[in-house]
Amino acid sequence: MTKEVFRSGFVSIIGRPNVGKSTLLNKLVGHKVAIMSDKPQTTRNKILAVLNSPLGQAVFIDTPGIHKPKHKLGQYMRDVALRSLAEVDLILYVVDAGAEFGAGEEYILASLEGIDTPVFLVINKIDKIHKDQLIPVIIGYTSRREFAQVIPISALNGENTGKMLSLVWEYLTEGPMYFPLDMVTDQPERLIMAELIREKALARTKEEVPHALAVVVEEVEQRPQNTVYVSAVIYVERDSQKAIIVGKEGNMLKTIGSLARQDIEALLGSKVYLDLWVRVKKDWRKNDRDLRFFGYVHE
Ligand code: GDP
Ligand code: MG
Repeated sequence: MTKEVFRSGFVSIIGRPNVGKSTLLNKLVGHKVAIMSDKPQTTRNKILAVLNSPLGQAVFIDTPGIHKPKHKLGQYMRDVALRSLAEVDLILYVVDAGAEFGAGEEYILASLEGIDTPVFLVINKIDKIHKDQLIPVIIGYTSRREFAQVIPISALNGENTGKMLSLVWEYLTEGPMYFPLDMVTDQPERLIMAELIREKALARTKEEVPHALAVVVEEVEQRPQNTVYVSAVIYVERDSQKAIIVGKEGNMLKTIGSLARQDIEALLGSKVYLDLWVRVKKDWRKNDRDLRFFGYVHE
């Protein structure tokens, strides 16, 4: 691995519930990311954690556990998850060393079919099993699919997680710093709120505003009665895009705001008053300084 280049990329962590994805993420990023609570509503969302190192920047995505959808929303979330898997640079598929191979794993493996992104099989919780039990687990998975790497770890006590991380870096190539250093440690929650709003706006407008929008959360303030005031701006590139986002009589913006507010409420665990604005900022995607201002590049 050459040291000189700045490596970066997106790494998706997938796996069934309770296999230890959040624990692993916290271990890797090295500080408790504020949103890593175990409320089911929060893990339902796509969550970013950013690891900065002299080697570069790895952006971890806590992709919602891929599971058989039970309802429409579940189907939508699964589609989002699958789409994101094709777009990331690396997938960490986390499994529980002590758990029986079941329908859930079968389903995830089926979901991974046809996805070209390299996949690491991360066999977690090896502290729970006897060394002899590991080989059958490895064979069980590798007989079903080829993996770029197979790494037994314990996210809880850190066994082999360092080794895993150095392999992650090997799979990331030269790339930009997506998140400014200060933003990462300062306000992870703001980034996530912005991402939630952005996701809603994109989902509602689809092809009409193709990725030409960025979201900045400008203000977060605790108000009485466990209410949090959040002020955010959706930036678009053209007036025509602004018209689409705002919608007839502001209806589109209201819908986006209401959907995003529900997710932010789940994220923060409190009532949220979301003040949402739309502003035109011409060609922001072409402008380096603007990209830094927005905190990330997102195409
Ligand atoms: P997630 O649902 O995949 O995000 O799983 P969590 O990270 O929330 O972990 C689920 C449970 O497994 C928690 O009680 C963790 O403490 C536990 N856990 C996670 N990693 C390990 C591990 O390496 N060994 C053991 N023994 N327990 C673990
Ligand atoms: Mg979790």
